[in-house]
This record gives sequence, structure tokens and C-alpha cells, in this order.
Amino acid sequence: FDHEAFRRHGHALVDWIADYWAGLEERPAQPDVRPGDVRAALPATPPEEPEPFARVLEDLDQLIAPALTHWQHPRFFGYFPANVSGPSVLGDLAAAGLGTQGMSWATGPAATELETLALDWLAELLGLPDRFRSDGAGGGVIQDSASSATLVALLAARERATGGAARTHGIDRPLAVYATEHAHSSVTKAARIAGLGESAVRHVGCDDGHRLDPVALGEALAADRRAGVTPCAVIATVGTTSSGAVDPVAEIADVLAGEPAPVWLHVDAAWAGVAAVAPEHRNLVSGAERADSWSTNPHKWLLTNFDCDAFWVADRGPLLDALAILPEYLRTDANASGDAIDYRDWQVPLGRRFRALKLWFVLRGFGASGLRAHIRRHVDWAAELAQRIEADPHLELAAPRSLALVCLRHRDGEDATARVLEAANEGGRAVLTHTRLGGRLVVRVAIGSVHTARWHVRELADELSAAAEA
Ligand code: PLP
Repeated sequence: FDHEAFRRHGHALVDWIADYWAGLEERPAQPDVRPGDVRAALPATPPEEPEPFARVLEDLDQLIAPALTHWQHPRFFGYFPANVSGPSVLGDLAAAGLGTQGMSWATGPAATELETLALDWLAELLGLPDRFRSDGAGGGVIQDSASSATLVALLAARERATGGAARTHGIDRPLAVYATEHAHSSVTKAARIAGLGESAVRHVGCDDGHRLDPVALGEALAADRRAGVTPCAVIATVGTTSSGAVDPVAEIADVLAGEPAPVWLHVDAAWAGVAAVAPEHRNLVSGAERADSWSTNPHKWLLTNFDCDAFWVADRGPLLDALAILPEYLRTDANASGDAIDYRDWQVPLGRRFRALKLWFVLRGFGASGLRAHIRRHVDWAAELAQRIEADPHLELAAPRSLALVCLRHRDGEDATARVLEAANEGGRAVLTHTRLGGRLVVRVAIGSVHTARWHVRELADELSAAAEA
């Protein structure tokens, strides 16, 4: 596989990807496969001799792609979107080709500095407060996922709450974490990994809109303090996974301001946060100026392929206290000078890919205007869909529309709702997923695929109405 072969096959692969995107409409959005089908179609043992790349590409085309759920499909409305775009794929290709390990400034100076710049740019585009910018005590870093962002936030919180004891001796006192039942499961997972145990997670009560109730938070904090438990962190969600509810971050900060000792406030805005690129959605960052950390996923709804979670801290001190470690073999003049960022100290693993490149390609390739247009398009179509659902005699909204997420159900109850979901997904035509709110089944429509057009959403509205009627 010399350079010329790479060039030739690389062109063929880029052509294949472009054809895949162009042909998505013709494919079902979900494959008709059963567990084990894919494995059974592939050789059981690895090849002894090199195989021609063309054969590998052929298998990708014939065996792999048809057995995928197509997240880029125009009728993909499931979970949350996982955007890819031309600039991001090319940025990732460049990163792969460069093969840089950006664990320290010295191991990839431009990889580090571009990441710092890209996160400062993104903070500015989202209207995040200056204290998250890298020129002060805070700064941004790319994590692989929002789950990792929550984990490292909790590790920093644990560090601060125990005065460093957790780092040196392990957890020396009972700690508690506060979130609603609608917070992402990664909060519970982080509590497990951080050694707090999932019983440390307090599910604070919500209002009717599934938003954290600050009064209930105050009560939970007080009850724990009385019981000798140290409140460690609050994880507020801006755009919950089930319904897109937005916790009142500023009011949560008000409650925490009355606490005798600081409690870390992390905002998980994994899906919704990027919508703040459009000024009319700046409510999503309100209260951020009082949060200790804030994160959102360009890899969901901002045209950047997985993995790219943007995570900011207002004060990098506790994060570095928790995670920095400097073995002899990583000592350099740059880290001795204190003038350089070593991003390995901001995350769990040592090694790190050059993920800033794809984000930088996206920010430059679309510009702020292109990013705003991308978000606005989907929010507009979701608003139209929500109106159609409200006007339908058989369907109703199960929660207020949140940005480009519409949650609905059949007025006749569970079975009817289940049949609407089944009909929409029939034959793999589209991907819609479900959740439960207040114990009741809900169909979620998350609009956000780069390939979706307005007419796909209108067609979906027709199909949902027809299924509800039937
Ligand atoms: N937090 C929220 C609110 C989410 O909606 C999701 C995923 O849907 C996550 C976290 C997990 O994201 P990731 O896959 O980046 O860990």
C-alpha cells in the first residue's frame, strides 16, 4: 500500500462516500437483519495474504453498508442526530493521515493550540461567558463524549469537595450528586466510575415540564448536610434526552450560592447546547456564567462527526488537580515553563487524536451563518410538525416541542401510540425511537440529519396522521 496506491484507493473511497450520501434516499433507513447475520456473511478467520483494496471496498458496499442503521438518512429521526458533513469528514481524514498524538503541547504543538483556539471560537459563537475562554483561569477541551465530560467534571468536583483527599487516599466521606430522573444515564455511570456509587445520585424533583425544581434541590442539599453527607456536584441538563427539557441553570446557581461550601455545577447540554449559535436560542447558555463546567456535542447537531464533545471549565485548577500526572518520560521544557497546555491532564486517557481539525474545518467550512442556518432549518420544521400534531384529532404532544425535538403520543393510549411508532418505522422506512414520560409511552421525532429536507418532515407528519387515524 504505497503512497500512489493510497491516493488511488483514497479517491475511490471518497467517491464511494459521496455516492453513499447521494443514494441514501433510495435505501431503507433501518436494515432488515437479525443478530449474527453480518458475522455469518463474513469469513470466520483473518486473511493470511493481503487482499486487494477493491475487494474490501466491495464488501463495505455489499455486506456492511446494507446492514447499518443509516444515521445520515433523510428519514432518520431517532435518538439524537449524529451529524457528519463534508468538511468534518475531510478534517478527520487529515487528522488520521497526520497521525499526531496530541497528549502534550510538545507532542503536537499545533494540535494543542488549534484545539484551544477552536474551543475559544466555539465559546464565542455560542455566547458562552468569557470565563470559559482559555486566556483566563478556565478553558475548553475536546472530550470524546458528553459522558466523559460529565465524568471529568465529577472527578474535578470530587477533588474540590474532598480538598484533594479523594486523589491521594480515596473518598474519605460520603458524597452526593444531584440531577433529575431525566438526566442522562451517564450521570449514574460517572458516579459509579468516580467511586461514589450510584446510590450517591439524588434524583431531585421536577416541575410539570420535566425541569429540575430548585426548591426540591435546596431541600435535598439540606437533608444531606443534616445527615453528614457532603454535596459534591449538581448536573443540570440543558435539553434532556427524553423530552429536551431545560433545567433552570441560573436558579440552580442561586440555590448553590446559599450553600456553606461550594458545590460543583456542571451543565450537560449535549444535544441542545449547539443551538445557541443562533442568538434566538441564547437562553440555552443563560446561567452559564455561574456554572463550573459546561459541555455540548458538536458531534450531535453541529455538522461534526463523532467524536467531538466540547467541554469548558471556568477554573481549570480542580480538573488538573484531579487528573494531572507527570511521569519523567513526559517532562519537557514546555510543561516546565507552565506556558503550554497539556490536554492529557484534562481527560482520562493519555493519548489523543487531533479532533480539533474536524471542528476547525466545520467552523471555517460553514461559517457562523451556515451553522445558524443549519439549526434554524430544523427548528422551523419541528415547529411545523408540532403544529400538525396539535391539530391532529388523534395525536397530541407529550411534551412542549424543544428546538427540533417533537414528542408525541396517541390520544387513545399506550397500544395506539405503540402502533403509530411501529407504522412509522415499518419496513425500515424511517427511524423513530421512543421514551417514557410520566410512565407513558412517547414517540420521539428528533429532526437534525444533514440530508433531511422540509418535505421529508411534511411526509412524516402525513404518515403519522394516517397511522393515528388507522
Ligand atoms: N447527555 C445528554 C443530555 C444526552 O442526550 C446524551 C446522548 O443522547 C448524552 C449525554 C451522551 O452523549 P455521548 O454519547 O456524547 O456520551
